[in-house]
Amino acid sequence: MADIIDGREYARKKREEAAHRTAALKEKGITPCLGLILVGEEPAGISYVAAKEKALLEAGMESRDIRLSRDVSEEEILTHVVRLNRDPRIHGILVQLPLPNHIREDRIIAAIDPNKDVDGFHPVSVGNLVLGKPGFLPCTPHGVLVLLEEIKIPVAGAHVVIVGRSNIVGKPLAQLFVRREINATVTICHTGTGDLRRHTCQADILVAAAGKAGLITADMVKEGAVVIDVGVNRISANNTKKGYRLTGDVDFDAVAAKASYITPVPGGVGPMTVAMLLLNVVSAAAQFADANCLGVSTSRNSNN
Ligand code: NAD
Repeated sequence: MADIIDGREYARKKREEAAHRTAALKEKGITPCLGLILVGEEPAGISYVAAKEKALLEAGMESRDIRLSRDVSEEEILTHVVRLNRDPRIHGILVQLPLPNHIREDRIIAAIDPNKDVDGFHPVSVGNLVLGKPGFLPCTPHGVLVLLEEIKIPVAGAHVVIVGRSNIVGKPLAQLFVRREINATVTICHTGTGDLRRHTCQADILVAAAGKAGLITADMVKEGAVVIDVGVNRISANNTKKGYRLTGDVDFDAVAAKASYITPVPGGVGPMTVAMLLLNVVSAAAQFADANCLGVSTSRNSNN
């Protein structure tokens, strides 16, 4: 039976680290502040933004919340991004994704000042990630790596199989795993992969990031594998107050019987994503302080 990885506990440690670094910055007169843009009223987007704002507040940081209606124009969003870029009190900018179909996400992301790109999605951040240069790491992939580090899973030399090739999870995670200092061997699977099971069965570390409930069944997992479930799927459940429950991409009970470690959903990767965001915002504020000679040392992504 697998050990269940308590993402909330490891996230709490990282949030404490963010709070300590925030306190040091505040002594220098800087309060880290995240500008958050939310378009539309999707319940998932609203609850993700609320969770991020609550975590920022608890760590002593601030947020500036910009809520825009679903039919907002691309130009209007860009105007807000430019304002946040220019505002010295804002250290990080996050545009909650996904955006409505009429908005070109890549255009909005490219407009964010790379120095404030705490989500790590700007082409400059992506380039730095690929080149192995310092820069903001995307929060979910970084959170996965930190979780493995915290539970002391040997990653060097391991075969990692990632199911999903999105720009926000699968691809950046693969880039992180192949960095020389991490040294894993990576297979990326996606909707074009024939015989998914043939690949997943070879994984020492299996990361599911497809957004398909129950995709990973026990017969797709090697005995003793480490299973990281990034997926968050809403399954209707009439017996719950909200009318749904959250589940990952992994058939949890059956896979837990076979794996050595497994992350639950909720309570696994999700809390780490928020914790990594807090650390990125603190780093952005510290970087701002350094650039303005305010005598605060930066330690941005020291484990890049
Ligand atoms: P996405 O839809 O952009 O990408 C999904 C990827 O999975 C695609 O690359 C696709 O090729 C692949 N895929 C889908 N079905 C597949 C199948 N049957 N076989 C093989 N590959 C398949 O999604 P995303 O933004 O990368 O998110 C993935 C999941 O992770 C979602 O459930 C999302 O909610 C969740 N997520 C969680 C966090 C967190 O903090 N826990 C953060 C981001 C995303």
